[in-house]
Amino acid sequence: MKLSWKNLLLWSLPIIITFFFIWQGLFAPIANENNNIANSRMTYGRFLEYLDMGWVKKVDIYDSGHTAIIEAVGPELGNRIQKIRVELPTNAPELISKLKKNNVDLDAHPSKNTIAIWNLVGNLLFPILLIIGLIFLFRRSSNTSGGPGQAMSFGKSKALFQMEAKTGIVFEDVAGIDEAKEEFEEIVTFLKKPEYFTTVGAKIPKGVLLIGPPGTGKTLLAKAIAGEADVPFFSISGSEFVEMFVGVGASRVRDLFKKAKENAPCIVFIDEIDAVGRQRGTGIGGGNDEREQTLNQLLTEMDGFEGNTGIIVIAATNRADILDSALLRPGRFDRQVMVNIPDFKGRLSILQVHAKNKKINKDVSLNIIARRTPGFSGADLANLLNEAAILTARKHKENITLNEIDNAIDRIVAGMEGTPLIDSKSKRLIAYHEIGHAIVGTLLKDHENVQKVTLIPRGQARGLTWFTPAEDQNLISRAQIKAKIMGALGGRAAEEIVFGDAEVTTGASNDLQQVTSMARQMVTRFGMSKIGPLSLENEDSNPFLGRGMQNSNEYSDEIAIKIDKQIYDIIQECHQKTLEIIKNNRVIIDKLVNILIEKETIDGNEFRQIISQYTEIPEKN
Ligand code: ADP
Ligand code: MG
Ligand code: ZN
Repeated sequence: MKLSWKNLLLWSLPIIITFFFIWQGLFAPIANENNNIANSRMTYGRFLEYLDMGWVKKVDIYDSGHTAIIEAVGPELGNRIQKIRVELPTNAPELISKLKKNNVDLDAHPSKNTIAIWNLVGNLLFPILLIIGLIFLFRRSSNTSGGPGQAMSFGKSKALFQMEAKTGIVFEDVAGIDEAKEEFEEIVTFLKKPEYFTTVGAKIPKGVLLIGPPGTGKTLLAKAIAGEADVPFFSISGSEFVEMFVGVGASRVRDLFKKAKENAPCIVFIDEIDAVGRQRGTGIGGGNDEREQTLNQLLTEMDGFEGNTGIIVIAATNRADILDSALLRPGRFDRQVMVNIPDFKGRLSILQVHAKNKKINKDVSLNIIARRTPGFSGADLANLLNEAAILTARKHKENITLNEIDNAIDRIVAGMEGTPLIDSKSKRLIAYHEIGHAIVGTLLKDHENVQKVTLIPRGQARGLTWFTPAEDQNLISRAQIKAKIMGALGGRAAEEIVFGDAEVTTGASNDLQQVTSMARQMVTRFGMSKIGPLSLENEDSNPFLGRGMQNSNEYSDEIAIKIDKQIYDIIQECHQKTLEIIKNNRVIIDKLVNILIEKETIDGNEFRQIISQYTEIPEKN
């Protein structure tokens, strides 16, 4: 709504009127205060008697001579001067002379008019202030795009989308997601040389959907297309479409596309499109009108422009499975590009991109970092190098060394470093717990190698055992999962054997969660139990996000009991085996705990070297 006097009046009139009446009711009596002070009254006749007795000290005449407030003293008034109100008859000419004769202090207040004026001013003051206040409010809300005033001016969006004339990002800045990049190189050609395609009758795609986990470079990639094609970049986040008022989202979509058409060729980027593009009519508590209207508007807009106007809509989501199918049909987001967590090679090239502007010591090989960071997204890797640079600067060093990088990785994975505990029983218990994990992991041939064991707390953990992550494994064997379960049980098992049942602590709760989840997945998803090769549960069954509340557990109660039994059996078996390993290696464990308490951190190689003096370490698979 634009600020105009008409609108202003419309808004403020009812408010002003309301306040006017409140004002009248509340404040008018105060304005007439003088007339009302004298609560006690007296008849004219009595007043004259008082006058004759000489008890009247002062007379103030109000109301054009209709009312008088007198100050009098007398036995009836307890010999105190009191103000008394007297109604005067309309015709009382003798009064003035009588007053004069008795030498009474007389004051006439013929100011009915002035009082009325003051009353009027008083009555108007408040509404005037109110109007001024309202004007300020409107001014404020039309200058800023947020804040409390926003509610007053809904309807027309105030450019909630951003426009970048030049993103300054090129394909070279994007690494490790080569397939997605290739797909997009073609789109750059669409934008730069549309005639190549239009002459042969090809339709330029309107929408591209980028699907991938957070931090994999979706936004970056979209910007890179705009940068490469040298066209403006409009961006808005799906969550910004959905507002308190129904219809606002739809009007924002209209605005966005209007602006985009004015600036074609250009890229329109809709981040988090799942916030608006979710399957319609689903979710707990029914559909969301506002969201659906916004989505409908988006669909209309996408149908509304011809493929060759040079607008390409790029949307990003990490949940393509919950998108409304209407969005995905041809003519809308018909191209879908997966952007995945990078593999080793991808990580290496992303590290190379981000290492360019950093001083990294020559002995640091990006190879090693890439190897240590499976599962890291592009954003994680960028963050990792930045953290390492910050640590280096904090230590006043010239170059980033492996030390800082290691530290940064640990920090990203496990949180901030805390201060080590002083030697105590609980430190000893934590040491046994961690060595328990580490030794079980080392002695199982299907378990990853220990990278280091430390008693320096980080994040929530009071001690940590790091394992060298296996490289980008996507197929995991049953033996490996079981080894993982045993490794995770190693901590609790060591507590049990060394300190006894009564002394075990809550420290293993996280381990136990993982153990249970792994065992459950073995049974219900991977078909790795006696129930057989059945898939009984979906990976993801969150009714708040997905396609309604379908029941994802497709099994009977009978099977449910069997599942629980299988999970129990797997964990029992692993627990027994883990206890065995701890018992059989008690001597080594005691020795390792002493070393750990003294040194706080044992490196993986040293750890294996100590163990190998006592027992044989199996060759890892
Ligand atoms: P997304 O939109 O997928 O969540 P972003 O594009 O916002 O991720 O990535 C955040 C940051 O992470 C980028 O600005 C960039 O610094 C870094 N990054 C992510 N992926 C890559 C990549 N593939 N190559 C280079 N840098 C990347
Ligand atoms: Mg993003
Ligand atoms: Zn543990």
